[in-house]
Amino acid sequence: MLLDVSKIEAFYGASQALFGVDLSVAEGEVVALMGRNGMGKTTTIRAICNLNPPRAGAVRLGGEDLKGRRPHHVAKLGIGLVPEGRRCFPNLTVYENLVAAARPGQWTLDRVNELFPRLKERQTQMARSLSGGEQQMLAIGRALMTNPRLLILDEATEGLAPVIRQDIWKAIRRLKADGLSILVVDKTLSELLPVADRGIILENGRSAWSGKPADLTMELQDRYLGV
Ligand code: ATP
Repeated sequence: MLLDVSKIEAFYGASQALFGVDLSVAEGEVVALMGRNGMGKTTTIRAICNLNPPRAGAVRLGGEDLKGRRPHHVAKLGIGLVPEGRRCFPNLTVYENLVAAARPGQWTLDRVNELFPRLKERQTQMARSLSGGEQQMLAIGRALMTNPRLLILDEATEGLAPVIRQDIWKAIRRLKADGLSILVVDKTLSELLPVADRGIILENGRSAWSGKPADLTMELQDRYLGV
């Protein structure tokens, strides 16, 4: 397994948010992390990246235990994070945002620009002046420029217009076809499930279900994901 998360527990102060989350991502696999609001998806992602380090359990990347690693070191080891809210440096240009993240590998400025032609047209524009969709493309581009072994997308298309959402999914499908390993959170199941090889559902800070998208029956969707 590329990513192996085993029985992690995480807290906000004294309040426990994760009670034993298990998940894994194999080399080249796209895994959908699902669950209703507040069930622990973002907390799990933050725990994996040691932004909110787990107090119990283990996170391994390529067999290496990430315990005690600082977030920037986790990034260096190969996790590219596209956080919720698509944070970029607002006062840097698109170009500066991309090259600031660069590490050697197959992902270069040219390849990111080819994946997202809209970014190419906006190289000299400040990130803050981009639309939400363009900022998400930039956030994904930045993560790719680090040449990650695993890409994590928290709320891949939240708040974006339908046309832009399709652009993002198209890019994700291309990354998948390229063999990149991806862990992705998104609320639109009809767009998320077709791209996923496997899904994991969290309920109240625990892994409640794991399986193939085809096995996620309406009854299961209703039980774990319905409103
Ligand atoms: P959403 O889709 O709403 O983002 P989520 O599945 O990502 O939901 P988390 O944000 O991981 O869920 O939240 C898990 C639990 O941790 C919730 O009970 C939430 O209230 C709590 N929580 C999240 N962030 C904080 C925080 N900064 N301080 C205290 N509790 C928090």
